[in-house]
Amino acid sequence: MTKKKRRLLFGAHMSIAGGLDQAIFRGESIGCTTIQIFTKSNRQWAAKKLTTVDIENFKTAQKESDISPVVAHSSYLINLGSPKKDISKKSTKALAIELQRCEELGIPYLVLHPGSCLASSEEKCIEQIAQNLDKALALAPGKTMVLLETMAGQGSIIGYTFEQIAEIIKLTSNKKRVGACLDTCHVFAAGYEFDSKKKYKAMWDNFDATIGLKKLKAIHINDSEKACGTRVDRHADIGKGKISLEAFKLLFNDPRFFDIPKLLETPKESLTDDQRNINTIKKLLTPSTKKDLLVEK
Ligand SMILES: [Zn+2]
Ligand SMILES: [Zn+2]
Repeated sequence: MTKKKRRLLFGAHMSIAGGLDQAIFRGESIGCTTIQIFTKSNRQWAAKKLTTVDIENFKTAQKESDISPVVAHSSYLINLGSPKKDISKKSTKALAIELQRCEELGIPYLVLHPGSCLASSEEKCIEQIAQNLDKALALAPGKTMVLLETMAGQGSIIGYTFEQIAEIIKLTSNKKRVGACLDTCHVFAAGYEFDSKKKYKAMWDNFDATIGLKKLKAIHINDSEKACGTRVDRHADIGKGKISLEAFKLLFNDPRFFDIPKLLETPKESLTDDQRNINTIKKLLTPSTKKDLLVEK
């Protein structure tokens, strides 16, 4: 009996221009098996309610495609850690609305930038993020998990160490619905190195000891234009930035991450750009990985 092959779970962030279902079609056209989307405009607070037609079209498109799961990314405006009361409140409500949208669309994961402390202390900010996260989850009952994203640490942004992500999770009471998303560009910019076997192992051992590998539900696949430790967040094409291809090779041939959605957020003007990055990664897959994974082309 031959072992059933698992799918290579790999895709990219897709635009929802023209409707949510269009993101599925775009992803499919370049061979994605998972995609990330914004369920609304990411630079506006307001969102039009989803209609039954929007929801049905999206669900049907997904069912008829090879794409599963879809991961959502929340609005960049949300700051659960803001010392400004009105922004903190508005952010919590906005996160709840986004969770509700994911629930309606059957999207299991919503990626969130943990927050920014501005003038307040990191410690206080982390406590507030955890409290607001609990509030948002309570306002939007369901199954969708919030994935706290590891950040590069620009300005006063929280989440640039595994310890900070772990601390937020520790302080939430609804732990079942809180996970993590690792961004390769962000962790590298934040100072984590993972481009030799030894450093790669050390980083993931550290991740497992602080956050826990079980909490990892998505990985953003981006190269970094800036050097390790600069704490500057600039995504680059795979192989064109400061992270070596060896690092991506280690990641994509690591069976622990075969079943984790891996998503590109590399610079793009058209789908051809995503296709190019997907091809770069596929060339890194070893014969042994290809034995276990279904890889088209
Ligand atoms: Zn992000
Ligand atoms: Zn980034």
